[in-house]
Amino acid sequence: MTIQAGQEAVIVEALINGQNTKSLSQSAKENPANPSEIVGYFPVTTKEQAVEAIEAAAEAFKTWKKTDIAERVTRMRKAIEKIRAAESEIVNLLSREHGKPLYDAHGEIYVSLMWMEFACNEAAAALQAEVQEHDHGKTILSYDPIGVVAAISPWNYPIALSTIKIAPALLAGNAIVLKPSPYAPLAAAKVAEIIASEFPAGVINVVHGGADVGVELTTNPRVTKIAFTGGTETAKHIIKAASDTIKDMTLELGGNDAAIFLESFDVNDERAMRRIVVSNFLTTGQICMIAKRVYVHRSIYDQFVEKYIEAANRWIRIGDPFNPETTVGPVNNVKQKEYVTGLVEDAKQRGAKVIPLGRILDQQQFDQGYYLQPTLVLGCDEHDRIVVEEQFGPTVPILPFDDVEQAIELHNESIYGLTSSVWGAEDEAIAVARQLEAGTTMINTAAVQGLDVRFPFGGFKQSGIGREYGTEGIRTYTEQHVINIPKMLDLPYIPE
Ligand code: NAD
Repeated sequence: MTIQAGQEAVIVEALINGQNTKSLSQSAKENPANPSEIVGYFPVTTKEQAVEAIEAAAEAFKTWKKTDIAERVTRMRKAIEKIRAAESEIVNLLSREHGKPLYDAHGEIYVSLMWMEFACNEAAAALQAEVQEHDHGKTILSYDPIGVVAAISPWNYPIALSTIKIAPALLAGNAIVLKPSPYAPLAAAKVAEIIASEFPAGVINVVHGGADVGVELTTNPRVTKIAFTGGTETAKHIIKAASDTIKDMTLELGGNDAAIFLESFDVNDERAMRRIVVSNFLTTGQICMIAKRVYVHRSIYDQFVEKYIEAANRWIRIGDPFNPETTVGPVNNVKQKEYVTGLVEDAKQRGAKVIPLGRILDQQQFDQGYYLQPTLVLGCDEHDRIVVEEQFGPTVPILPFDDVEQAIELHNESIYGLTSSVWGAEDEAIAVARQLEAGTTMINTAAVQGLDVRFPFGGFKQSGIGREYGTEGIRTYTEQHVINIPKMLDLPYIPE
């Protein structure tokens, strides 16, 4: 596999029971920076092929579940080495199909490998059966594999959000059917293929397509767990679809993450200003855990906005993902571009002030791709769509607040609760953080800059169910199985 910018189109196929499987029809994936360029083709998996993939996984599971943890870890480590060896090719493909700048695509591989390494290091301890001798006898608590996992990933971090599922699922002894998003299917499929080359046939299968294939994966009775990352609306369909067969589920969903700047925050701290700008616009704002609404104490608001604009204009350089100067690339797809544009227009019509940020490196290129100039939105109402909805794109509202209790309330009244951040004097910030309804709260940083794969990640409320990352992110692919050997075999209150 050699993939470089400007190279000919890549073709991926479904992977079913260890075989590349042709499909009757294919879809083309364009380059968001230059939509006339086709980066590659991926198949439209049929319902019958999806069923075949599930059955292959169910069959492979019968023997894979009996392997010991040492074998699984050894195989996964070999896969990690192969991914590392192919990193520059994978990064190039990811940048071309997704639109994220090269440094950001490298960042995605960095986070993916960090997690895969952690999962390999921790799996034996996390999955070790616990044996307890106690007053009532002896109990063995084991963490058994669940069976066939349907892993459904989104387009924004297609490799990280696929490997976050593949590594622990396989290490825990499950078999998997992965469906990447049709908006960024190529690099994720390549990485899954590399991992699969180190595992027995059928342990990892990859299918492609949109909701139709997703529905097969979420309704088929042989699938026992769904690991889904994507939108909250999609998750509602999945919960309904899976209810007939009561599947185990991990759902990592949308967020509308708030960043709260306390009175004690130093607006002259340029590094901190850069961090909040990055927390708003990394990956062109298309991250579940990006800071999507910023609340600033009124006493520092005007100065904050001034310094923010300076910092944003320094950091944001909008351009081709392959240009080393670029920090912000195009939006991944037209639908998302239109959605974000609509939110900004709505805010404008309601009287908000919209300030363009950053520098466009090449206007002609900007005009040809799915680019959007990042914007700062001021003067909006706290209940405007741009504040309440997840933008998932390059725009951010900044709003003033008068007292901390008000900021906490605004944070917590959201239907979401994925991540948040509090900026200012550390003790004060921690005290505020403790009152926020969010799966992760970062102090004086935000978004991926404060992510730690060693700890559980997930959301409160409509941001999801369950956790990925950390020991929890491994055990979530298991069922707890208790084997009891009681001392008292016959209970005294049951009549002879
Ligand atoms: P999406 O929900 O549109 O799609 C996600 C995946 O689900 C895709 O593979 C898609 O093909 C599939 N799908 C669509 N309909 C389906 C159905 N009915 N049944 C089964 N599968 C179906 O999300 P997206 O646009 O790809 O991603 C953006 C969303 O993902 C944002 O809301 C973002 O916040 C969220 N996200 C969350 C996290 C997290 O960890 N919480 C991480 C990244 C992205």
